[in-house]
Amino acid sequence: MRTVHHILQLKRHSYPTLQALIRSGQLKGNPKLRLQHDRASGLLYEAKPELLEALSDSTLLYGDVALHTELYRLPSSEYAALVRQSPRFQQHPGLEELSVALRSPTLSVTEAARLLESAVAQEPQPDAQPRLVQPDSLFSAVWDRERLVLQRSGDDWFLVLFFQVQATQPDLFTHRLEVSLDLGSKPLVYASTSEERAHRTQPCETDLIWQVRSRLSPQARRLLDRIVFSWHQAQLQRVSDFLCRHAFYVYAEDLRYKDMKPTFVQRSRRNGVLDFHECWMHTRLQLAGIGLEKVNPRHTSLRCSYCPGHPFGHRDGDIFFCPTCRRRMNAHRNATRNIMRLGMVKAKRWRRAA
Ligand SMILES: [Zn+2]
Repeated sequence: MRTVHHILQLKRHSYPTLQALIRSGQLKGNPKLRLQHDRASGLLYEAKPELLEALSDSTLLYGDVALHTELYRLPSSEYAALVRQSPRFQQHPGLEELSVALRSPTLSVTEAARLLESAVAQEPQPDAQPRLVQPDSLFSAVWDRERLVLQRSGDDWFLVLFFQVQATQPDLFTHRLEVSLDLGSKPLVYASTSEERAHRTQPCETDLIWQVRSRLSPQARRLLDRIVFSWHQAQLQRVSDFLCRHAFYVYAEDLRYKDMKPTFVQRSRRNGVLDFHECWMHTRLQLAGIGLEKVNPRHTSLRCSYCPGHPFGHRDGDIFFCPTCRRRMNAHRNATRNIMRLGMVKAKRWRRAA
């Protein structure tokens, strides 16, 4: 069992509640408190031990104070633990059937909209079974319901939740391959291994989903986004499962918010790629004892991975063309080759220094 923490951004309408907790002394800033691998700088506030409970996907109860966030962004076993340990958890009935129905190739836009609107018209019911989440075959979690830290960074507030997580089948971690990842939107993740094999996530969003989305009420749209998120999460979980089973070292781009286009951030938050990159992958690899090296993403998709000196080529969607060696290749494959090369150099430097 290892203690793992997860950081979730709070919704803005929870901010006045936090200010009130600070004024009443229930929440105290602690400059000595540290979180492992925390990239956000800011002041941490330690809440006094009080039994935490989740009331829904978006509401967490601390004592009698409700805080609002997106709890479903937790890795699947942590989310499942949180739901199971929250006896008053409420959900819309029939979520799983709805998720299956929305993936049917014969579904019309009108029918999809009707299904979603009638789902949100029903009151959420007490249901402490995790829904819309794939069981994790490699890890299990227990939520530490008495421990809560809040983090203020600039104008934003984050919730830090703690879990005890353990690998359920550590003998399946083979530590064989080096794997490099190219993260994006289509596909979400493209992985190449040191055996020159490639794996990619499957597309989740169909045209139908986009057409339906524009017709929905705000509540039905939120439910649709939640369901589509779960499809992406299942794909991303498969990647982290693959990494845990086969990787010995993983190389990925070091994505930083300040360098990303706002549209990329928005899309990657919606499809879970940022959650995967910032949190899911980290905790899983660490628990499985697999190394992770992040490299500067600058030009990794624009330079030829085969030519000496790695000259610039042309990228057009999924195709990369190098005018020097005349190779035309999959652009994601080219990027992962560059990421692997840079990552290996960086990892070797670290190991030498250690
Ligand atoms: Zn070339």
